[in-house]
Order: sequence, then C-alpha cells, then structure tokens
Amino acid sequence: MNARVRLPVHTDQHAPSYYAASANRSLAFPELAGDERADVCIVGGGFSGLNSAIELVRRGFSVVLLEARQIGWGASGRNGGQLIRGVGHDVERFAPVIGDEGVREIKRLGLEAVEIVRRRIEEFAIDCDLTWGYCDLANKPADLAGFAEDAEALRALGYRHELRLLQPGQMHEVVGSERYVGGLIDMGSGHLHPLNLALGEAAAAAALGVRLFERSPVLRIQHGAEALVHTARGRVRAKTLILGCNAYLNDLEPGLGGKVLPAGSYLIATEPLSEEQAQALIPQNMALCDQRVALDYYRLSADRRLLFGGACHYSGRDPADIAAYMRPKMLQVFPQLADVRIDYQWGGMIGIGANRLPQIGRLAEHPNVYYAQAYSGHGVNATHLAGRLLAEAIAGEQSRGFDVFARVPHMTFPGGRHLRSPLLALGMLWYRLKELL
Ligand SMILES: Cc1cc2nc3c(=O)[nH]c(=O)nc-3n(C[C@H](O)[C@H](O)[C@H](O)COP(=O)(O)OP(=O)(O)OC[C@H]3O[C@@H](n4cnc5c(N)ncnc54)[C@H](O)[C@@H]3O)c2cc1C
Repeated sequence: MNARVRLPVHTDQHAPSYYAASANRSLAFPELAGDERADVCIVGGGFSGLNSAIELVRRGFSVVLLEARQIGWGASGRNGGQLIRGVGHDVERFAPVIGDEGVREIKRLGLEAVEIVRRRIEEFAIDCDLTWGYCDLANKPADLAGFAEDAEALRALGYRHELRLLQPGQMHEVVGSERYVGGLIDMGSGHLHPLNLALGEAAAAAALGVRLFERSPVLRIQHGAEALVHTARGRVRAKTLILGCNAYLNDLEPGLGGKVLPAGSYLIATEPLSEEQAQALIPQNMALCDQRVALDYYRLSADRRLLFGGACHYSGRDPADIAAYMRPKMLQVFPQLADVRIDYQWGGMIGIGANRLPQIGRLAEHPNVYYAQAYSGHGVNATHLAGRLLAEAIAGEQSRGFDVFARVPHMTFPGGRHLRSPLLALGMLWYRLKELL
C-alpha cells in the first residue's frame, strides 16, 4: 500500500524523505541567542551557504552561518541527488554580454563544479553513497542529435571522462524501459545522498571553526558599512553578508527575491528492490534524466530503492498526495513496478531564474552583500562552485568566474510575489503544449 504522508513544508523538521530516514549522522546546532560578530555572516544552511562557509573559513575569515530550520532542510537535503556536469542552459546566448571568452569560462566552470564536489567528499571522507555514471535520455530523435553535438562540445572543452552515445537498440544497457530513443552516457557525472553530503559539509565547516546556528530565521537586515542581521533572539554584526536562501528567500531581500521563482518538484521512493529487479531497471546503476520541460529524473539508492522524481509545479500549491501524483509517472516509465510499494514521498522548492543561469553576484545598492541563487533545478554542482566564487570575490582574489557570472543581468519576474507563479505556470503550459505538437 502507498504510504500517505503529508508534506510538512513549513515545519522545522526535515521533510519525511528517504534521505531523512537514512541520514547517517544527526547534528544539532544551537539557536542564535545574543550578539555575535563575524567577518562574514551567511544566511541559509544549504549547499550554497555551507560551501561558502568552508571556502571562507579556509581563507582566514571568521564566519557565522544562520539556518532558519535545520541544516539541509531546503532543496539541498531533498533533491534527486543527481550530480550532473554543467551550469546553465544555452550559455552561448550570453555572448553579447560576457563575450566568447566569458561563455567558455562558464562552460569550463560547469565541469570544474563537479570536481569541487568530488574533492569535498574525498577530503572530508563524507559518506554519501557517491556513485559515478549518468545517462541523458532522448525522448525524440532530435534529442539524440543534440547529444552528439553535446559530446563533441564537451570533448572540445577537454572533458576527460568517458562519453558514449547510445542508439535506440542499445538503451537496454542503461534502462529497463521502452520509452527512450537514445542516450548519452557520461561517466564524469553521477549520483549521491544529498542530505548526507550536506550534513557532512556542516560537520566539516564546524570543525574548521564556522559558528553554525539552526532554528534561527533571519527576520530583518539592517544594511550599512557593516550589516546587522536580526533573528528573534539574537543579532549578528558582519562586514560582509551572503544570502544563500535560493527558493526560500521570500521577502527577506525583495529585490533578489523577485528574480527567483519557487517551483515545487516531487520525489517518491519505492520499497527496497531485489538485486534482480534493480539490475533489470537500471543495469549500470546510473542516474537518469529525460529531456522534457517537466522532466523525469530517477536513480537507485544505495539500498536499491527506485528514487523517482519529476513534475514542476509553478502554481505554488503542492499536490495533496504526492505518491498518488507521482506513481503514474513512474509506471509510464516502468510499468513492471505496478505491485511495488511506495515507502516515501516528499517535495521541495526549486529556484528558477528567467534565463536559467545561476545568479551569483553582489547587490549594487549594498556592495557588502553577496548572493548565490536560482540554480533552476541543477544546483548540486553549481552551489559548490558558487561557494568557491563568492569566497574568491570576498577575499579580493582574482576571480574570473565571479566576474563573468556577476556581469549577466537577471530579469525580475513580473507580477510580484503572488502573481509571478501563475504567470510562469501559463508560460510553462505553453512549452508543454509545444512538446506535444
Ligand atoms: C525536489 C528537488 C529535486 C532536485 N533535484 C536535483 C538534482 O537531482 N540535481 C541537481 O543538481 N539539483 C537538483 N535540485 C536543485 C538543488 O537541490 C538546489 O539547486 C540546491 O540544493 C540549492 O541549494 P541552496 O543552498 O542554494 O538552497 P537550499 O538548499 O534550498 O537552502 C536554502 C536554505 O536557506 C534557509 N533560509 C531561507 N530563508 C532563511 C532566513 N530568513 N534565515 C535563515 N535561513 C533561511 C532555508 O531554510 C534553507 O535551508 C533539486 C531541487 C529540488 C527541490
């Protein structure tokens, strides 16, 4: 029988996900009470905040990190766990603003981003089920033609990992489904347990001297030569502030909040499958993703559950029963799972930007406030890169990467906080209709 679990988006606890149930450490940081002082105050305890903290403390800065709920409570502790090369989409579009050299830099950094995750895990010996191997899945022949071009472009960039195109008759090598007409295997991308990665990074940050606080939502920012950040029971005074709240920023900094649109994405986890079942579904234990606007993404967990994700709700409303909503999507791909139990269901908020390039920069009106957000559903690698680039910029190091990202302008979604979701929902409906034609 399907579990019937409601999504507690507004509680302080982790979502009732497979990840929360299989977290391999339990960390508890205090609530902020009283006054703290730091070189840098970071708001948000997801991958963006944690990686900025690690990079900064290593450069000799004193750092306070404030998380509204628990470390990894946001998208970082709930996502599909797919660690995929690249940042942004169609980055050539930005050539008129950042030049061909800037485009090349972003592409290069999109590959470096995965290496930062790899090194972080190795260096701190973080146990998070890291597994290499990923395959892009073609829904139509044009996707496959695009994969061939992607592979060429990656090789031209010096990508050192195995890439292999799969023709329709070869798809059984990676997926036990009749749904796809080709694929591109990439052995330099893969999958991991995202909450265990976030918890491992928080433990590493704490060991390096970062002062972390949980259950400490920032309620107000007083800007100035030093930023003064207020929570219910405390304050942090810092020369520099980083906002790493992504889709959960809301009105804390309205100018930034208007540039990121929260969209719900949802996952289900089956009961553990037998070795034979798992082998028949995903023979090489890769992460898999199709090419549609509202894409399916899935993989096996370390204990052989199918973690199946997808959908994108721009309406601001979560499905009342996520399993009932997601299971038919899973059965379209794997009808052979009709009798398999769903053990977990959960969702989280993706932060979408209008041009789908991560927004990494500093506020023009408050130059001591930096931010990283809007990874548009592809942030496991990009958040780690953002942490590095923010730290380089704050430390005054030469950072071509930060400069390139910061030069790209980002549109504010029209309609204000309450109207921008319905407007985008309409836009996305148009793209889905086009896919069907
Ligand atoms: C369901 C789902 C599936 C996804 N799958 C993938 C995937 O497979 N691969 C991939 O690359 N990307 C995926 N993503 C995207 C990826 O998870 C995100 O891009 C990334 O985790 C963003 O990290 P972050 O640290 O910027 O934000 P978050 O992890 O969302 O963290 C922001 C934190 O800020 C805190 N916060 C907000 N306001 C305040 C405040 N006022 N005071 C203090 N703290 C505050 C929040 O509590 C939250 O913990 C997925 C996202 C979702 C939701």
